[in-house]
Amino acid sequence: MDSDGTQPLVELDGLTKHFGTTQGLADRLLGREPQPVRAVDGVDLRIERGDVMGIAGESGCGKTTLGKLLVKLYEPTAGTIRFDGEDVTGLTGDREQSFRERVQMIFQDPFESLNPRMTVLDAVVEPLRIHGIGEGYGGRRERVAGVLEDVGLAPAETYLDSFPQELSGGERQRVAIARALVMDPDFIVCDEPVSMLDVSIRAGVLNLMRRLQDEYGLTYVFISHDLSLIRYMCDRTAIMYLGEVIEKGPTDAIVTDPKHPYTEALFDAVPDIDASAERRRANVTGEVPSPRDPPRGCRFHPRCAYVIPPAEWQGSQEAFRRGFQFKLQVRNRAISTEGIDADGDSAVGGRASDPTEALLARELVLDLPEEHRIDAEGGAMAGVGIDPSTLDLSGDAERALRAAADAVLDEDYERAEAELNEHFDSICDRDHPDLRPAADGEGTEVAACHLYGRSAREAPAPNPTD
Ligand code: ATP
Repeated sequence: MDSDGTQPLVELDGLTKHFGTTQGLADRLLGREPQPVRAVDGVDLRIERGDVMGIAGESGCGKTTLGKLLVKLYEPTAGTIRFDGEDVTGLTGDREQSFRERVQMIFQDPFESLNPRMTVLDAVVEPLRIHGIGEGYGGRRERVAGVLEDVGLAPAETYLDSFPQELSGGERQRVAIARALVMDPDFIVCDEPVSMLDVSIRAGVLNLMRRLQDEYGLTYVFISHDLSLIRYMCDRTAIMYLGEVIEKGPTDAIVTDPKHPYTEALFDAVPDIDASAERRRANVTGEVPSPRDPPRGCRFHPRCAYVIPPAEWQGSQEAFRRGFQFKLQVRNRAISTEGIDADGDSAVGGRASDPTEALLARELVLDLPEEHRIDAEGGAMAGVGIDPSTLDLSGDAERALRAAADAVLDEDYERAEAELNEHFDSICDRDHPDLRPAADGEGTEVAACHLYGRSAREAPAPNPTD
């Protein structure tokens, strides 16, 4: 129950779905524990009645899995879903049937979700038949015709006996919407509902869905990687990364002032959603890690531009980040010493160089997307590299970098890690951040980031490389 006494329509608590939790043949042969895909990992979310809730994030972050959990196409590995006040997690019998009548899902590909051998009438009437709703053939046909007109397929008579392949993509998606609406549901999960449609007809379908929301009194979840769509359609938005919700709040606030560094990076990638020129550049590094083995602490920290130095760090956050990224490479044993000769001089960008310096020159370069590389990185790409003595960091930290590079050249990674741990330690790597208020005012954004709330170090959020 909310503090104002109203009950959200949907409430998720620690919702989790792991795939591959049982030991497969390969696991058994190798004698190892299964490493499940943590598709959805401990999501807490409330969806208010009449709201449009957006779920956004990159491909593979768990959006579709979350959508399927919401309509009980999947059973969760852990956690609960409350719908209209009732825990529906283990529902069976009549109560399950009644839940299925009230909750529908619309999928991305209307061609796949419609049976090519069924006419429009058969496809839309099918849920009524399954649930035993409607008065005989005539009554059901009339109801289907009414819904077809509601979704803009008018006159309905011209569509009832058509097959999906005779319709355009937009018409097919309207049939899929009609199939969901014919049950007169309360809640519809729309998974990328227009992404397969021609750009020219997307707005028409989205506007239709808005109109239907009012007419049918619907609550929607919109799942999309398309942030323009999220901005257009959704009152509130949750951003997912590696199975977790890492930021949520009113869509306007998230678009104009994203709080989580990952959200910032997402919006940075969309040119037409650049709210202000002063917005911090996200400067993410590297690729999304595997959901089978997500990073400890904050799952985003290996890519984060704002990774937090320890309180006693003396120097710039940018210098810290370079050393910290080097530490992660050492920890992952992801350093190649190819081209660096430990016994003598080596060539970096055509210059002879000491191997320790050569290794650091290469490893202290941040793996940024091209458009975010500052001059130093541009130079590094041309073969100049980073000279640690030019970074803003203490003599002790600089010595630790050199000692670690020497250890790597000796192939002693444990020693290298130990050298770096003392200086390049971060709360982001150690502690998992919970969702916490990231802005003033009630109902505004919450973000799972150590930059906010009690565990942030006292200094203001660092403003890296731009
Ligand atoms: P997309 O936008 O590409 O559909 P998504 O954000 O919807 O991505 P999901 O489809 O939910 O992400 O997938 C989340 C993770 O779970 C991915 O790593 C995916 O490979 C994995 N996954 C999804 N379904 C299954 C399944 N049935 N069995 C095993 N792994 C799965």
